[in-house]
Amino acid sequence: MLAEIKGLNEECGIFGVWGHPDAAQLTYYGLHSLQHRGQEGTGIVVSDGKTLKGVKGEGLVTEIFTADAMKELTGTAAIGHVRYATAGGGGYENVQPLLFHSQSGSLALAHNGNLVNANSLKHQLETQGSIFQTSSDTEVLAHLIRRSGFANMNDRVKNALSMLKGAYAYLIMTENELMVALDPHGLRPLSLGCLGDAYVVASETCAFDVVGVEYIRDIMPGELLIINEKGLTSEQFAVSSTKAMCMMEYVYFSRPDSNIQGINVHTARKNMGKRLAVEAPIEADVVTGVPDSSISAAIGYAEAAGIPYEMGLVKNKYVGRTFIQPSQALREQGVKMKLSAVRGVVEGKRVVMVDDSIVRGTTSRRIVSLLKDAGATEVHVVISSPPIKNPCFYGIDTATKEELIASDKSVEEIRELIGADSLTFLSLDGMVKALGQDGNGGFCLGCFTGNYPTEIYPDTLQYYYQRG
Ligand code: SF4
Repeated sequence: MLAEIKGLNEECGIFGVWGHPDAAQLTYYGLHSLQHRGQEGTGIVVSDGKTLKGVKGEGLVTEIFTADAMKELTGTAAIGHVRYATAGGGGYENVQPLLFHSQSGSLALAHNGNLVNANSLKHQLETQGSIFQTSSDTEVLAHLIRRSGFANMNDRVKNALSMLKGAYAYLIMTENELMVALDPHGLRPLSLGCLGDAYVVASETCAFDVVGVEYIRDIMPGELLIINEKGLTSEQFAVSSTKAMCMMEYVYFSRPDSNIQGINVHTARKNMGKRLAVEAPIEADVVTGVPDSSISAAIGYAEAAGIPYEMGLVKNKYVGRTFIQPSQALREQGVKMKLSAVRGVVEGKRVVMVDDSIVRGTTSRRIVSLLKDAGATEVHVVISSPPIKNPCFYGIDTATKEELIASDKSVEEIRELIGADSLTFLSLDGMVKALGQDGNGGFCLGCFTGNYPTEIYPDTLQYYYQRG
């Protein structure tokens, strides 16, 4: 499904390079391939070993990094960021990397995820005299590093990281070091690769492929990597208790050509579709998927069910970005602009429509009606994940609990609301097993089950239940 019409948005993507003469250019291409993770703002900060300087702005990678802007970005190390704003809101000042200059040196930060204790820490820091430049939770780390009593930079970073709770993949760059940190649950994906002698870090491995980077490994939960002229060292700054990679990365967010924890995203989605065909056998003439993220699951469903897969829905890729339209009514109009049903495929047919998830239900209702208007005699909606009943506190904008259609409605009530002939969700067990795993170990399933891997702080709860 299209992120901007679904009401389900990833918050960020990060990319970093150490030890390459074209560090900024590599970061540009890396960020471009991570653009699906955030389209509201982007930035790159480079280091030439003496100073840090950056370019950032609100817009897409191709809009912000003009040829003139790229000429400014000279250096052998760089970190970059693409942002979708939720916690802290949008605005130029919140576009990352954040860059801080002080007498003791400069520091640049890029963050993917969301801290659940940011408000408490911010309050604490402000009472100690800190003045925040942004309303984003990312800045908290910079203040914690500055205020840490340790003399050595690495110790200050470790000490600061140990105070954070929630989801974070951080790139922290000084004039002479790149540090890479992942939260103790490993909620967000982050991988390490190399290009000759240079090291590269990215939110998704698809960003490696585009610049010819060789994948080395994933960053471990609670790990701090330090890359400098001496090479690469790894330390654990926190003990990882329960590994909890975000399940929605597999279901919906990541690109199908990315691998997360050794599992290819397309294959995972295809397996989810295959399991769905076993859990929800339907007599139908064609299977179609909602582009783009549901295509893999639809192919899997069709293969396992023995029903032909057809392109019953097409996406118009060149329509303006609907995410800048704030109201729900406008978003619904956006769906019509972005998707069309293929009459020649669905007319007179019983259609299985595969989608990856249902958030508010309004988009599903519109797609069912698109298919019926194009002549489908029956539309059976099958969803390759369980109902999303709870908000995400870790950087995915799933909407508030009140906006989530499955939070207080039964499957039958949702079916009726979206106008489908039948509606089936993949079981929790089926989804986890589709990844080749038994039981629930290793994944965050919070938005499905309401059981979160971290403590959720009262001020965070208040924010998520009141906004919207
Ligand atoms: S609550 Fe859901 S969206 Fe958020 S990190 Fe967990 S699985 Fe991902």
